Amino acid sequence: MKDDKGFLIVLSGPAGVGKGTVCGALREKVTNIDYSVSATTRKPRPGEMEGVNYFFKTKQEFEKMIAEDKLLEWAKYLDNYYGTPIENVNNTISEGKDIILEIEVQGAKKVKERYPDGIFIFLMPPSLAELRNRIEGRGTETEDIIDKRMSVAREELEMMENYDYVVENDEVELAVHRIQSIVTAEHCRRERLIEKYKQLAEVD
Ligand code: 5GP
Repeated sequence: MKDDKGFLIVLSGPAGVGKGTVCGALREKVTNIDYSVSATTRKPRPGEMEGVNYFFKTKQEFEKMIAEDKLLEWAKYLDNYYGTPIENVNNTISEGKDIILEIEVQGAKKVKERYPDGIFIFLMPPSLAELRNRIEGRGTETEDIIDKRMSVAREELEMMENYDYVVENDEVELAVHRIQSIVTAEHCRRERLIEKYKQLAEVD
């Protein structure tokens, strides 16, 4: 049995922990989950594509989206804007599909205020040293930016208490399996299904 509305799932955690990789792997495995494409003023990295990784915007375009209330949440992160276009999120949920938002912790906090029923998952690095390795390994950031990202990461780790679940990203496949299990379990929650079961009882 399937409940009618999809779930809003927030996957957050320090930058570089592997949210994008984990989300990508999850998408391949679970077809009933959509992936929200964010808008950003950050410049595209090599290989990133418009409308796939992000909607790349100018500062003026992004500020217009804020003014027109087109974003479910937005945050300024390392001098760039990042935000979640609201329309796609609402449409996906009403279609009965789950949608994952891969966002940083400030944005996640704002989503929690608007969608307290969402599922909030915090992706953990095995250690801070490993986190630094991963950001450095990406090879796209300068030392200065890496230092800034690490200090943001330390603050971000303290926000874990706002989340329903904590998933360690020691290995992508394991993290994906844990998230998949969380989503499956959430679909079976009594309080989410109670109205459906009541209707069944009435038919009998
Ligand atoms: P990056 O520049 O590495 O792609 O992303 C930097 C940070 O911004 C990451 O932690 C990423 O999860 C976060 N981010 C991406 N899209 C959004 C969004 O729409 N809203 C918020 N609040 N953060 C986002």
